[in-house]
Amino acid sequence: MAVPLLDLSRQYAYLKPELDEAVIKVLTHGKFILGPEVSELEKKIASLCGVKYAIGVASGTDALLLALRAAGVQPGDEVITTDFSFFATAGVIHRLGARPVLVDIEEDTCNIDPSLVEASITPKTRAIMPVHLYGQVADMDPIMEIAGRHGLKVVEDAAQAIGAEYKGRKAGSIGDFGCFSFFPSKNLGAGGDGGMIVTREESNYDLCRWLRVHGAKRKYYHDMVGYNSRLATIQAAILLIKLGHLRKWSVQRIEHARLYDQAFEGLEGVRTPTVRDDSTFHIYNQYTASFDRQADIQKALGEAQIGCVVYYPVPFHRQPCFDYLGHKPDEFPVSNQTSERVLSLPIYPELSGAEQNEVIDTVRKVL
Ligand SMILES: *Cc1c(COP(=O)(O)O)cnc(C)c1O
Repeated sequence: MAVPLLDLSRQYAYLKPELDEAVIKVLTHGKFILGPEVSELEKKIASLCGVKYAIGVASGTDALLLALRAAGVQPGDEVITTDFSFFATAGVIHRLGARPVLVDIEEDTCNIDPSLVEASITPKTRAIMPVHLYGQVADMDPIMEIAGRHGLKVVEDAAQAIGAEYKGRKAGSIGDFGCFSFFPSKNLGAGGDGGMIVTREESNYDLCRWLRVHGAKRKYYHDMVGYNSRLATIQAAILLIKLGHLRKWSVQRIEHARLYDQAFEGLEGVRTPTVRDDSTFHIYNQYTASFDRQADIQKALGEAQIGCVVYYPVPFHRQPCFDYLGHKPDEFPVSNQTSERVLSLPIYPELSGAEQNEVIDTVRKVL
């Protein structure tokens, strides 16, 4: 039995009448850019996160870019972030003319290691950008404490972690800015690109909403140069429907994760994902286990037509575009080792029991 890594057609089949109606409604009212559904979604996401403000933007990447700009990051500044994430995390820092200052990760959670952050601070440091990788919030308390002591802004890359919780607080609500992605493969996925910034502060909110429309406070009057980064109304309409199912879907992902955990428990050559005690809600955007023989497992799953992928095969410090940072290939030993061991398995809510057993059997056979 072939098992896709992700199959969005199942979600559409489940929600078809509602989604079709929501999209047709937007086609009918015609307010395609920043229409009423965008404001409604912003209110709902702000409330989900327990913060006052949310700003819909064109993608998760843009959410990070605008948040860093609003945090005051300028050319020549430094931004501390993890060595191990999706490319956008470090890419946006570079695009602002700032320098990504990379930090190694914790072996168990694959998130930024807070104990290494303070040593990376220089007079040029402006912000810290932790990533909540795979849907588990990074260890935010020490990061916020360090940021507070040094007067640094914190931008949470919560692209994989909408609805996740840390000590009862929502991902994205802990730092100065929280950034979400609605890329279709994320837990809350649109029918195309989309993103959102959340923040508690009115001044941050204002900056972000001006930056998304070319930096105009008032249409055609520009105190700053911004971007064209608006969330499409049709995407907001789709997301409003799906948002109502998000909690249930996250719980279903957690159930799949527990099943994998049990199936792999006690076997040699595999380490199941670590859920920290203070990570009160890990939403498993990915179920990423660590294998001694990553390549063998990947090959066997591929031959069995089971979807799997290495998130991420190359840490930032070994990406050719970041050669100028001057890192040695063997720097950041934990992220290097992690990239050679991790493998993400199918975990979407609609995954059937039979499908999951197929994945489990195939992995167990190799182990
Ligand atoms: C998906 C993702 C992004 C970028 O989001 P897009 O919507 O694809 O632009 C940024 N950071 C992380 C960690 C992501 O997983």
